[in-house]
Amino acid sequence: MIVLVIIGVFIAGFITYWILHEVIQSAVDNSTMARNIQEIRDHLVGNKAAEQAASDEDHENCPGCNHLVRKTEKVCGNCGLALRDWD
Ligand SMILES: [Zn+2]
Repeated sequence: MIVLVIIGVFIAGFITYWILHEVIQSAVDNSTMARNIQEIRDHLVGNKAAEQAASDEDHENCPGCNHLVRKTEKVCGNCGLALRDWD
């Protein structure tokens, strides 16, 4: 009889350990995933900022609607206002 109690306690302890192990493992995985997402986000935001800085050089704001248009465009793509360089 005492052997059954010992086996029961052992199994209960094993199950408790297994559940804790799973919970801790998933928490570790989540933090790793969160760090990866953070790195990807930083990467994308960094690229976007660099892209924005580069695009400022060949873009200007439409005088009519303030929409960002390329300096090479003759007509604003947003409001249709004729821009310079009509020759
Ligand atoms: Zn415009």
